[in-house]
Amino acid sequence: MHVKNFISGHYVDAVSGKYFDNINPATGQKIGNIVRSGPEDVEEAVKAAQIAFRDWSQMKPENRFKILHKISVLIMERDEDLALAETQDTGKPLSLSSNIEIPRAASNFRFFATAALQFASESHSMPGSINYTLRQAIGIVGCISPWNLPLYLFSWKIAPALAAGNCVIAKPSELSPSTAALLGEICKEAGLPDGVLNILQGYGSEVGDAIVRHSSIKAISFTGGTNTGKTISQIAGPMFKKISLELGGKNPCVVFDDCDYQKTLREVSRLSFSNQGQICLCGSRILVQAGIYDRFKNDLIQKAETIKIGDPMEDGTQFGSLISEDHLNKVMNFIDLAKKEGGICLTGGERKQMDGRCKNGYFLKPTIFEGLGPECRTNMEEIFGPVITLQKFETEAEAIHLANASDYGLAATLWTQDLSRAHRLASEINTGIVWINCWLNRDLRTPFGGVNQSGVGREGGWEAMRFFTEAKNVCIQFD
Ligand code: NAD
Repeated sequence: MHVKNFISGHYVDAVSGKYFDNINPATGQKIGNIVRSGPEDVEEAVKAAQIAFRDWSQMKPENRFKILHKISVLIMERDEDLALAETQDTGKPLSLSSNIEIPRAASNFRFFATAALQFASESHSMPGSINYTLRQAIGIVGCISPWNLPLYLFSWKIAPALAAGNCVIAKPSELSPSTAALLGEICKEAGLPDGVLNILQGYGSEVGDAIVRHSSIKAISFTGGTNTGKTISQIAGPMFKKISLELGGKNPCVVFDDCDYQKTLREVSRLSFSNQGQICLCGSRILVQAGIYDRFKNDLIQKAETIKIGDPMEDGTQFGSLISEDHLNKVMNFIDLAKKEGGICLTGGERKQMDGRCKNGYFLKPTIFEGLGPECRTNMEEIFGPVITLQKFETEAEAIHLANASDYGLAATLWTQDLSRAHRLASEINTGIVWINCWLNRDLRTPFGGVNQSGVGREGGWEAMRFFTEAKNVCIQFD
């Protein structure tokens, strides 16, 4: 597949004519080319968006709803193509792409299609006068997303931006370009006017940077690494752009003695190793109360060792490859670091050598460490792979202390049957999201995002619609 830019409703090469390889990480083989865009391509996309903005922002919500809803329907009609493209780009099991990610991308469009119909503004009356607040589309906005849940996260930004009446310049990760490219065709078929959504492909430091710097792009919604988020805010901040940053995590998972043991065991294995540990919401610091620590540790090791690592295309595969050779090396370096810091590797800790088609793929075994304190780098830095640590605690106070011993603050999970304790901890733990006796249980209306190094702002529901609009207050005096 030759992945091109989608500008003004047409697929085009980058102005520079350059491109680079798209690699399937499960096989290590090249599967296509990706255009290598830069500032000139951003300029073209901005021109297209400027032409489209007036009509799109003034379109009746009912009509905007119909187009966005149609996009959602067409995503599901093409779910097999999309799931295949996702899996070939990322090495994740096809079942994950088919059953979770592509349906969720469709839900994102369906959900925000209805938001276009229902979004409303406030009014505030005073004696003799009334204020009403217009919530107007910002104009042209930039949406930049990562590789781990490609179309899922891409659509999570684009759908509310469009629903609110903006024109969008969007950039998927250079490691997962294909489903974003296919989305262009789908939008065209759904009747999205040319120029309303422009999709640019290429490297973050080139085309991503040019999107962030462009003075006509008034807001940046970014999901990705904390360091990239810092770079973006250093550029966009002084330009007074609106910024939403969804960044990394080092999420605590707190398991109490009184948890529903079998359910907790199953879910902790899932929250540790789903998508090869490459979900920002995965737990990576597993804190277990002393009374069940040894039993839980042994059972979790056994669970990790029975996860079926395999060719992502095969039925029954639960665990595929990491996203790239570079990322595999980065995660392997963290495993070395954990050993140097005195960690005991309980299972995994090495590459998984595959046979056949996947023999050159970037596979790593699910890995568990213990014996590392909260202050070490292994427990402070985001690894973003299938590597977790176990820490033992005695008291609730100690659990809170360990859970909060992080510069990140994205998501926490609590596993206990004591309702009062669950509520106490939920308010004490410094994260944007707390799940109690569940993980990744999502209602798209709820605020989504983190604190501290995990980001600024919230996505989801009205939070996203507010982010993608400017509030203008109008005050009328009538006496
Ligand atoms: P990344 O920061 O390397 O890249 C993310 C996106 O930003 C890509 O499209 C990339 O091309 C682009 N980019 C890179 N440098 C840029 C620059 N200077 N200017 C503009 N754009 C630039 O992140 P990644 O490796 O793709 O994704 C993994 C990270 O994303 C992890 O840290 C993970 O925790 C985080 N993440 C966070 C959430 C969340 O909701 N908080 C969700 C998923 C992933």
